[in-house]
Amino acid sequence: MKTFESLNPATGEVVGVFPITSAKEVNEVVARANSAAEQWSRLSFRKRLVVLKDWASLLTKEINTAAEIIHRETGKPVSDATLETALAIEHISWAAKFSSKVLGSQSRPSGLLMFNMSAQVQRVPYGTVGVIGPWNYPIFTPMGSIAYALAAGNTVVFKPSEFTPAIGVWLEQCWQRIAPFSGIFTVVTGDAETGVALTKSNVGKISFTGSTRTAKKVAAACAENMTPVVLECGGKDPVLIDRDADIKKAAEVTLWHAMSNAGQSCIGAERVYVHKDVADVFTKSIVEMAQKLKPGYEDGANYGPATMPSQLKVIKSHIDDAVKRGGEYLIGDKNSVKDGYVQPVILRNVPEDSKAMTEETFGPTLVINTVRHMDEAVDLANATSYGLGAAVWSKRNGKKIASLLNCGMVSINSAFSFAAIASVPFGGVKDSGYGRIHGAEGLLEFTYPRTIVKTKFNIPLQFTTFQRTGFADKTIVRIVNLLHRRRIR
Ligand code: NDP
Repeated sequence: MKTFESLNPATGEVVGVFPITSAKEVNEVVARANSAAEQWSRLSFRKRLVVLKDWASLLTKEINTAAEIIHRETGKPVSDATLETALAIEHISWAAKFSSKVLGSQSRPSGLLMFNMSAQVQRVPYGTVGVIGPWNYPIFTPMGSIAYALAAGNTVVFKPSEFTPAIGVWLEQCWQRIAPFSGIFTVVTGDAETGVALTKSNVGKISFTGSTRTAKKVAAACAENMTPVVLECGGKDPVLIDRDADIKKAAEVTLWHAMSNAGQSCIGAERVYVHKDVADVFTKSIVEMAQKLKPGYEDGANYGPATMPSQLKVIKSHIDDAVKRGGEYLIGDKNSVKDGYVQPVILRNVPEDSKAMTEETFGPTLVINTVRHMDEAVDLANATSYGLGAAVWSKRNGKKIASLLNCGMVSINSAFSFAAIASVPFGGVKDSGYGRIHGAEGLLEFTYPRTIVKTKFNIPLQFTTFQRTGFADKTIVRIVNLLHRRRIR
């Protein structure tokens, strides 16, 4: 059996050795998951809720173990790993609790033409959902699919990133301690080929989180079998700061928004558009705070190393390109990327067409550009191929500005908060993907609607038969006239 190592990006230590699951084995796992799906989907919402609550409770008890594994595998601080796990648990609980309310059968009006029929919409799970996860939030992000898919009555086969298999395998071990039977939640470790095999297997749906480039390959592979997909891709999230904003707070939170998790967040701040009247105060304040940040692996470090070493080259190329085109360092310099870490980099006056403004950097870097008014900020924020999240800072105009942004999620006078509110959908538009996880939309995403209509009683007028009479034809025209004809203005 072929294997691969998961390495601690800070120390190089081997965290674990894991099998590279072959396409044949992936198909076998999916076949078992499909059989288990028949039983799991037939359980009542209540019974699934009990199982999922048990899982949430066990993960809560084991939260320190989860955080330690994530810390070692990604290099992020233990406290960040703990927060991530806590939020993942919150999502399990929400999905379990609200599944019956969101997914219960609904009666619909049948209309005057079909008044003798009853109409109902049922939500049906897809069978097995294949979840392909990223390494940046290796428990929180995939859980946005796993918990909602399970609560909706699907089984799940989860392929963690090759950079974070240990936390995926641990998650499955915890599941097995509370699972009523086998095959409901299975983890397959491996590399990109294992991911490819999952997209080509007999799953009912794929939920993918990662880069736009890979998302397009996943969607193309799924198209071969007409397998539906949810794609959660990257972003180039803007922060818009109006002149009436609480500038100190905006600076403090935006620094965290951009640099926490070493900037490896799909909803991380990458571009700031600040009103010229407050640009100096904002810049001074954020730079002062950024100077105190300490990247590292030891206790008390603010963020860790780059989890995926190849990303360092991308980050450096974005910084170099920005500076070559006239961008100025407010903090950092050409040596900020070294030894696996990226020191905080804040740039200003970076041309809008440079890589640092158009491509996902995924590092602890931030560009601050000044705008004359908020309309300009909105235009620049929207002038990107991405459309994931955004933040707006304003005391009076937050909602107005937010409503003009072409993206899936906006936080006003805060950052990231929508990801922690389990009841709201998470996802983007344009190159940031399609479909939604979290909230009622996330539960609906992992089911399809099945329409059931039933004859309540027979009426003399029959439309759906070759025996239809001229009287029936006239009646239908009369009813349509009654319902829809009116004088056109
Ligand atoms: P990828 O998009 O390449 O990988 C994401 C997941 O997809 C991993 O589990 C990966 O497996 C798997 N995968 C890779 N290729 C395929 C394929 N053809 N079919 C099915 N699954 C596949 O991201 P990377 O980890 O390489 O990161 C690259 C960039 O993506 C980052 O620099 C960042 O910009 C962005 N990114 C965005 C994330 C987000 O949250 N939106 C998360 C992670 C990355 P394996 O790891 O085993 O190769």
